[in-house]
Amino acid sequence: MTFSLELSEEQTDLRDWVHGFAEDVVRPAAAEWDEREETPWPILEEAAKIGLYGWEFMANAMMGDPTGLTMPVVIEELFWGDAGIGMAIMGSALAAAGIAASGTPEQVMEWVPQCYGDAAHVKLGAFAASEPDAGSDVSAIRTRAVYDEATDEWVLNGTKTWITNGGIADIHVVVAVVDPELKSRGHASFVIPPGTPGLSMGQKFSKLGIRASHTAEVILDDVRIPGSCLLGGKEKLDERLARVREGKKGKAQAAMQTFEATRPAVGAQAIGVARAAYEYSLDYAKERVQFGRPIIKNQSIAFMLADMATEIDAARLLVWRAAWLGKRRGFRNAEGSMAKLKAGRVAVWVTERAIQILGGYGYVKDYPVERWHRDSKIYDIFEGTEQIQQLVISRAISGMRIE
Ligand SMILES: Cc1cc2nc3c(=O)[nH]c(=O)nc-3n(C[C@H](O)[C@H](O)[C@H](O)COP(=O)(O)OP(=O)(O)OC[C@H]3O[C@@H](n4cnc5c(N)ncnc54)[C@H](O)[C@@H]3O)c2cc1C
Repeated sequence: MTFSLELSEEQTDLRDWVHGFAEDVVRPAAAEWDEREETPWPILEEAAKIGLYGWEFMANAMMGDPTGLTMPVVIEELFWGDAGIGMAIMGSALAAAGIAASGTPEQVMEWVPQCYGDAAHVKLGAFAASEPDAGSDVSAIRTRAVYDEATDEWVLNGTKTWITNGGIADIHVVVAVVDPELKSRGHASFVIPPGTPGLSMGQKFSKLGIRASHTAEVILDDVRIPGSCLLGGKEKLDERLARVREGKKGKAQAAMQTFEATRPAVGAQAIGVARAAYEYSLDYAKERVQFGRPIIKNQSIAFMLADMATEIDAARLLVWRAAWLGKRRGFRNAEGSMAKLKAGRVAVWVTERAIQILGGYGYVKDYPVERWHRDSKIYDIFEGTEQIQQLVISRAISGMRIE
């Protein structure tokens, strides 16, 4: 199959269906949940009821799509509605991706559905890699997992921070150190089942943007989990650690695998936010009259909008290319990182320009544009900061160890 910008009928139907939900349900609720800064449970329930929030939806959209474009298309529409609510709906996918990246098929079948629940009992998943002293530098992770042979249990201790759905999720996927001497290659991922004693929520963060998405610390205090909760299983872990100790090339560490698989999807979120701001400011510029004519009749405003449209399309093309390559494991020059880097920058720039086009109206909460700008900044930060994407790309294009 060759790369094509032509979406199938199934994909355009899905896009229109998600757009309808974003327009009718998500966008009208955005300001309220931004203000409340809480997980929008009623909207998650509604999304689950129509089949948008659920593991079956994710599995169909990802596995049943040979092009890789379905997910970015769906995500762009949802985040066009609102990035905070969008993240509340998509946050569990981080945990699902973590399980899928390292788990056995049996573990995927057991745990991924529990990250979502069903329409009657909506559940959440969380993926916990970051720590207070280990953000960009995942090799600095200190959360320790020790195997207790007598009981066939793992015992986890540590503090995770900035965790989406942290402490309120039913399933937490935790990246921990199993061999400190091997640094990031001595990591493994674990599933913490619902209600496990010792796992608790620490501080809940009050944020600049995506405020409908819950972000908190997760404290692990002598958390005991069955041996079967080690993703991939003990035998595979022991084999991998032995290979690393012998100096053989091991697989990329667990956390990085998850981030690499999710980067084009994060870029699509950013494009959704940018498109929302661009469309709104385009309409506004046609209507707002100053000096006796609509402000769009000034080249300075019209050209700004022309640049906004161009940048959004450029970012979307990079995201689609990365999603398509990701489907084939065909990355050559860190195209996933390129897509996320570009889309994040475009979202911040476009939403800032949108405020400029609305003038004072862009700066106040009566209009959604200031919220879109607040929301946009996260795309320069999470799932690898702007500088970390540059690092990954520069290493890929040069083949050199850029520090
Ligand atoms: C809202 C939100 C949700 C999140 N959700 C999750 C989640 O669900 N799970 C999870 O595990 N994590 C999550 N994170 C964490 C996120 O991935 C980290 O914030 C991010 O990786 C950056 O780490 P840090 O904040 O510690 O910044 P730091 O790593 O301390 O970086 C600070 C600055 O230094 C720069 N920098 C660092 N190292 C280098 C270098 N080598 N070269 C050049 N510049 C460098 C960075 O680019 C940045 O500008 C979330 C964060 C936020 C804000």
